Amino acid sequence: MGDTTACPECGEAVDSVDQLEEGHSVPEIEVEDDGSISLFENTDLFLCTNCKNPLGMRR
Ligand SMILES: [Zn+2]
Repeated sequence: MGDTTACPECGEAVDSVDQLEEGHSVPEIEVEDDGSISLFENTDLFLCTNCKNPLGMRR
């Protein structure tokens, strides 16, 4: 499958997540309608190797 992603910031072509730099894990926080906060499990953020623009996350 030729699922190639291009960085929207610098246009760097990324063939797979293996080419991306793995950033630090970031917690996902969502505020519910009643004001409570849900904290999802941490996700691994992938960054463009060229400009460090976050391109996606991996569970
Ligand atoms: Zn980039």
